[in-house]
Amino acid sequence: MTQTQYAKACNKCGQPILMKQSGGKWAAYEADGLNSHACGQNSKPAPAKPTSIFTAEQETEIKRLAVEAFRAKIMEAKN
Ligand SMILES: [Zn+2]
Repeated sequence: MTQTQYAKACNKCGQPILMKQSGGKWAAYEADGLNSHACGQNSKPAPAKPTSIFTAEQETEIKRLAVEAFRAKIMEAKN
């Protein structure tokens, strides 16, 4: 039996897709295998920002603490 389908990540958008062969031609389908792959439409674009070692929540907390520390420093300088 020849393999007529296989799962992979789309080369363009990185979404998990299903490659299906029919009539000698390969076509890309969504992971469910029912709908043809609408490239880039269902997916978030690959994160453009550089990867951080911190989570988004940690980043927010770090910024909050930095602002607090900065504010305290200014208040200190005023006294
Ligand atoms: Zn795609």
